[in-house]
Amino acid sequence: MNKDEIVYYLKTTSEEEKKYLFRRADEIRETYCGNEVHIRGIIEFSNYCIRDCTYCGLRKSNRKLHRYRMTIQEIFEVAKKAKEMDFKTVVLQSGEDPYYRIEDLCLLTEKIKTELNLAVTVCIGERTREEYRMMREAGADRYLLKFETSDPVLYARLKPDSSYENRFRCLEWLRELGYQVGSGNMVGLPGQTIESLAEDILLFKELDLDMIGIGPFIPHPDTPLRNTKTGTLDMTLKVLAITRIVTKNTHLPATTAVGTIDLFGRQKALQCGANVIMPNVGPQRYRKDYQIYPNKICIFENADHCHSCIEEMIESLGRTVSSGFGHSLKMRMKDSTAICRKYLSSRIISR
Ligand code: SAH
Repeated sequence: MNKDEIVYYLKTTSEEEKKYLFRRADEIRETYCGNEVHIRGIIEFSNYCIRDCTYCGLRKSNRKLHRYRMTIQEIFEVAKKAKEMDFKTVVLQSGEDPYYRIEDLCLLTEKIKTELNLAVTVCIGERTREEYRMMREAGADRYLLKFETSDPVLYARLKPDSSYENRFRCLEWLRELGYQVGSGNMVGLPGQTIESLAEDILLFKELDLDMIGIGPFIPHPDTPLRNTKTGTLDMTLKVLAITRIVTKNTHLPATTAVGTIDLFGRQKALQCGANVIMPNVGPQRYRKDYQIYPNKICIFENADHCHSCIEEMIESLGRTVSSGFGHSLKMRMKDSTAICRKYLSSRIISR
């Protein structure tokens, strides 16, 4: 699809055309990714953040939020629990919190990799190239850093204390370092046009991402964007479906945000392109405070419940729960993952 076609489908109100789009995305998902759904357990280990993004409830100026940090040991214990529950991947996510020294995060990653044999995805925002390198050497497989919007003017408004260029520089470093790279956007941001969403999709393709997270924007009452509108399910599903059609074998999660705006949002997403789901595995007591947006689902549940609920959801759709790590489906990754493994084992042997 070229930009005009993408814009056309993003604008369409015809039920017939939407049905066609979603069916096509579902077929392409089946052809390129199969019927397996990969489950990744998210550990939201700190809600401290040095940034002031206007959309996010974790922004540093939000004085109403009760802040918490998990210790490295606590994070490891959660990963252990995830392993016992049969998760294959843990996602270490937080606000941008320099309190955590990279050396400690490396030790944690190495311990999770060697003792638990889980795949590790890191999602802790912008760090230096050296820090990314150290994490990769410690065994981190994947990194998730959403560019949020491809529109530099909108970006500057949303992230007034961040640099658009640096975000993309980080993505480039992550690629060079051999990570499986995930990025993504938000749909329905105030001031975002259909054309700019089409540009997001074209950029997903250009960056040849291994994973793309697409979620609706949900205004948070304690942020400057409190009086704006929530992104719609309709537009989020269209962006997701077109992204599947355009990028073919990329991992696409049915995001928690889409499940927050619609009771069956994640099921619908899984039926129009998504092949990944990322439930929370963290302790229940912290969940209500990881409030990037309001009314986030599953904050009163515990990890066991979330895992079985997700399994049931996958099976009810006639799909299967993946038993593998769910690494990138792009060919290139095979080499860099192998290179990293070799590096990791040489490090372990040499100590
Ligand atoms: N600090 C990390 C992790 C951010 S939280 C980073 O910068 O990468 C993970 C994602 O939540 C963000 O990338 C953003 O896309 C999403 N998010 C934040 N606030 C949101 C909101 N109000 N509505 C919807 N999604 C939001």
